[in-house]
Amino acid sequence: SSAALSDSAVRFNANLRSGESGQNMNFVLKKKLRVWCHFPDTGWELGNVQSLSGQLANIFLSDGKISTVHVERLLPANPNILDGTDDLIQLSYLNEPSVLHSLKRRYADDMIYTKAGPVLVAVNPLKKVHICGSDFLGAYQNKTLDGPHVYAVADAAYSKMMRDGINQSVIISGESGAGKTETAKIAMQYLAALGGCSGIEQRVLHTNSILEAFGNAKTLRNDNASRFGKLIEIQFSASGRICGAKIQTFLLEKSRVVQRAIGERSYHIFYQLCAGAPLVLKDKFNLKSAHEYEYLNQSDCLSISEVDDAQMFHVLMEAFDTVRICKEDQENAFAMIAALLWLGNVKFEVIDNEKHVQVILDDGVKNAAKLMGCEVDQLMLALSTRTIQAGVDSIVQRLTLQQAMDTRDALAKSIYDSLFEWLVDQINISLEDGKRRDGRSISILDIYGFESFDSNHFEQFCINYTNERLQQYFNRHLFKLEQEEYTQDGIDWNNIDFIDNTECLNLFEKKPLGILSLLDEESNFAKATDLTLAIKLQKHLSSNPCFKLGMDGAFKILHYAGEVVYDTSGFLEKNRDPLYSDLVQLLQSCSCQLLRTFTSHMLNQSQRSTSPLWLNGVDSQKQSVGTKFKAQLFRLMQRLENTTPHFIRCIKPNRKQLPGMFDNDVVLEQLRCCGVLEVVKISRSGYPTRITHQQFAERYGFLLLDNIDFQDPLSVSISILHQFKILPQMYQVGYTKLFFRSGQIAALENARKNT
Ligand code: ATP
Ligand code: MG
Repeated sequence: SSAALSDSAVRFNANLRSGESGQNMNFVLKKKLRVWCHFPDTGWELGNVQSLSGQLANIFLSDGKISTVHVERLLPANPNILDGTDDLIQLSYLNEPSVLHSLKRRYADDMIYTKAGPVLVAVNPLKKVHICGSDFLGAYQNKTLDGPHVYAVADAAYSKMMRDGINQSVIISGESGAGKTETAKIAMQYLAALGGCSGIEQRVLHTNSILEAFGNAKTLRNDNASRFGKLIEIQFSASGRICGAKIQTFLLEKSRVVQRAIGERSYHIFYQLCAGAPLVLKDKFNLKSAHEYEYLNQSDCLSISEVDDAQMFHVLMEAFDTVRICKEDQENAFAMIAALLWLGNVKFEVIDNEKHVQVILDDGVKNAAKLMGCEVDQLMLALSTRTIQAGVDSIVQRLTLQQAMDTRDALAKSIYDSLFEWLVDQINISLEDGKRRDGRSISILDIYGFESFDSNHFEQFCINYTNERLQQYFNRHLFKLEQEEYTQDGIDWNNIDFIDNTECLNLFEKKPLGILSLLDEESNFAKATDLTLAIKLQKHLSSNPCFKLGMDGAFKILHYAGEVVYDTSGFLEKNRDPLYSDLVQLLQSCSCQLLRTFTSHMLNQSQRSTSPLWLNGVDSQKQSVGTKFKAQLFRLMQRLENTTPHFIRCIKPNRKQLPGMFDNDVVLEQLRCCGVLEVVKISRSGYPTRITHQQFAERYGFLLLDNIDFQDPLSVSISILHQFKILPQMYQVGYTKLFFRSGQIAALENARKNT
């Protein structure tokens, strides 16, 4: 077969490789065959079969050595001509080493984009590569370039939106450091160039700098890691011009403000403000340098190599101006950041032998109170005591050191979370297109991919839940594409099984017996512990095939991307996310307008929620984090359901953030997790092999024993099918094509080669 085969013939060819269950069935091992040979130490190596005897094969490896291996360690390799193909679907053999090899070959030539059928795979170059910028932008715009690229995806979305009048979405996923945020920006740049004119596109682009300052941080995996999920809807007028935008964010990691791993930083804004604030602000906030603040200096990392925080602060201020956030709002936001820094410096001293504490009256608490707009005494009291309701009486309890520090940190986290939400609101207000009601849009989703660490917590639980939902959306979309092709060709597609993760989603969502419901129920018991939660989950969920109990209060979920063990410790506390009523009252009494806005927002939310009462002393009727997240996710899915999606899977080539290093194992793991190999599985589960009557007749017609001179390709095709006794359930005849279950063509191909 040659590279010039038409699309369907290539697909047909592409599926000779495999059967339903494994990736190495239905290929014929014979002399000279190019193969991948697996060695436990070195991984996959390329070679040719030199000789075969029983279950052993002598392989002539590409480095010149000869090795004898068991045939089970062999997989077919693709012909040279397919090396570096820009769509993985074109590979004759779509096994893991072949996919890896292709991506690696391309990556070495700075070709970071590759298609896998309907999905764009983007491998992070971790350096500047010259495939973006105005030249390329123009070339994609006037279609002189059409290779795989983010620009091509954005272009397709835009064209489809204009042509069909249907909203579009670009769904970008991948693990931390894989390049999602950069990819999202590249897509936005393209759309801004296509649909820009009024200057609003510049404002939309500059929202990135603001959100990154407040929502990104240096982690061990990425110097500029987004600690929130983001959907930005770019709105277009009927003539295709950008006219507004709307941002929705998900689950900001607020704990980072008060603690994180050594070597990581808090949100960029804290360091930027300390380094870059103009003198007037520094005076006003009593600002010191970053190392003087406990919330910043605790993790042994204050700067990022090659990043100038002071300069980034100026970039931020410019972005604020461009987006048209007024000076007053900007300054209010900075004042809050300063207040949090000082709050972190609040210290306590133990005053009795029951370890009760009081706040030490120093710069920390004084500056914090000043910036929050409350009396120092009030703040000191709120941080060191708690009012408990006992019947009609209220009792004031002094806190222990641990309780007091937790209270201070809870206050800081809550303020930061509110500040972030408020900022997003301000941006949305500024970018809102008042006139628009019925326009079209392209939404770009930049969201954390599937995570599986040695130890997984409530955060991973929420993230993986999101990915499970997105995966379902992805599967359904592929299914729809397939269905369209079948329907178009008049094929009965009732007996096609598609991969389905409903069981797993049920495990999360079912009421009353799903994890989220059970978690809420348990969160309402004051005496509940992580262990009682684990027992409860085990009691009610053990019949779900996706659930297993682990060791020591852990549980396992069998996700589409693999099994993850979750540690229940902290689940209840994180789900409750309590904010004590003393703090709410304190915030309500502050003269700082922003804090009062935050509080009324919080209270509004609680009133709307239907959750039962919370623990004594805690702001009542607060919605649980899990429930709130689920509702957010449902709204997201609803919005996506009304769009035509485009998928981009970002891959990071190694775990060291180094350019030019392609680590097979690291990449393979991500290909599995982000479903690139799943695409193949999905296409295998229907009738993956398609070939036109014409092509089929031409390719196999000469095998016919009765040498009748048929005129029409369909009759020739049917005769071939009969002669080779292909079972009727293994194929369907469409108007223009034949559709086969996977692996069916192997016998024909064999016969063809042996003649
Ligand atoms: P997280 O989930 O942690 O937010 P992410 O997937 O959003 O991670 P990015 O922040 O987009 O990852 O990328 C990490 C780094 O990789 C970037 O700061 C940049 O240095 C580099 N990078 C990503 N994409 C590209 C690209 N297309 N060209 C050059 N460098 C890139
Ligand atoms: Mg990011």
